[in-house]
Amino acid sequence: MKTIVLAGGGHTHLSILNKLTQTIIQDIKWILISSDDYQYYSGMFSGYIEGLYSLEDIRIHLPDLAARANCEFHQGSVEEINPVEKTISVNGQLFSYDLLSLDIGSHTTNPEISGLEHHQTRLKPAHEFPDHITELHLARRTAVIGGGVAACEMALSLAAWKRKYMRKYDQISLIYSGSLLEKHGEKAQQIMHRLMQENSIKLHEDERAKKITNNQIVTTNRTVIPFDQLLYLGGAQAPDVLRKSGLPVDEKGFLLVNGMLQSPDFPSIFGAGDCITMINHPQLAKNGVHAVRQGPVLWQNLLASLTKKPLTDYQPQKNSLAILSTGFQKGLLLWGNASFYGSLPWQLKNYIDRNFMKKYQ
Ligand SMILES: Cc1cc2nc3c(=O)[nH]c(=O)nc-3n(C[C@H](O)[C@H](O)[C@H](O)COP(=O)(O)OP(=O)(O)OC[C@H]3O[C@@H](n4cnc5c(N)ncnc54)[C@H](O)[C@@H]3O)c2cc1C
Repeated sequence: MKTIVLAGGGHTHLSILNKLTQTIIQDIKWILISSDDYQYYSGMFSGYIEGLYSLEDIRIHLPDLAARANCEFHQGSVEEINPVEKTISVNGQLFSYDLLSLDIGSHTTNPEISGLEHHQTRLKPAHEFPDHITELHLARRTAVIGGGVAACEMALSLAAWKRKYMRKYDQISLIYSGSLLEKHGEKAQQIMHRLMQENSIKLHEDERAKKITNNQIVTTNRTVIPFDQLLYLGGAQAPDVLRKSGLPVDEKGFLLVNGMLQSPDFPSIFGAGDCITMINHPQLAKNGVHAVRQGPVLWQNLLASLTKKPLTDYQPQKNSLAILSTGFQKGLLLWGNASFYGSLPWQLKNYIDRNFMKKYQ
């Protein structure tokens, strides 16, 4: 009997678990280890903040899903990986594996901004976030660091909640270096600027947060921005456990994998989602779209690897579809440099997200 350990209940492993609910595989023991009993779907965070979705709408109960998949579930965080002994340590307990697959996501933090870790409300790991939703709703001054898709979406969704509940004296600020949605086209940027203005969100463009104290952000230009609640959405940070375990990682600490989602130095280790950097595609965006699309390839390769069959490459598509929920059931659809704003994008997003969740809940 061989053992495959799935570390992290992230998007890619959800699709492996789904396959396992539909397939009977002899002679393999599957173990899922994840930090929390629930896996949260970040694509629906915006709707949750705005009050469109309940907590149960946006999360998946991993022990139930694992049971349906004939997979053993353990709640806990992987603290160390020994790639030579092929063991992992979780809450002091040791698990042996024949194959290990890592889908442990990323963290929303940045060690270059001093004080951030202590003063922010963390969005990732995601299971910590729902505990802070009321504080976020009721904060007089909320600062969001970041100017990309997730930062814009969170700021607008919070603004929508505040408008619904007449909290017109509350302030929301967005702090970002460069420009808003800079990876997208001019049209998307114009729409976003207009939406920010309509929602009275204060923009601090070309500002880089340097230091966070109790209730203030100090930027490299020495601008001081006060806040009561702080969200950081300025990029993904690698989980410490990968570097700490001596696995081959990139300069930011993300697990290096080849096109087959496999560690070249330790072929019994696979990885997917935010926690990896593909050697052939180092600039690949860290988003849920890639994490989900890697699922079928990871599934094939885990099974092929045990039976010494050839492995398959993950071929990322050039553009990923992104739909931002911008408040009041409207959305902004982005595809490369093209964009489309209105009710239809939100309806499409709602349909895609709810269908995704239905598969696993
Ligand atoms: C606010 C926000 C909104 C976003 N919206 C979108 C969107 O609309 N579309 C999109 O494509 N992307 C979106 N993203 C990006 C998206 O969330 C990530 O790219 C995606 O979650 C990556 O999936 P993953 O499987 O790598 O990790 P995750 O979904 O983060 O899952 C990681 C899992 O591993 C578990 N875990 C973590 N550490 C350990 C450990 N040490 N041991 C065991 N288990 C562990 C966690 O509990 C979790 O279950 C958004 C991100 C944020 C922050």
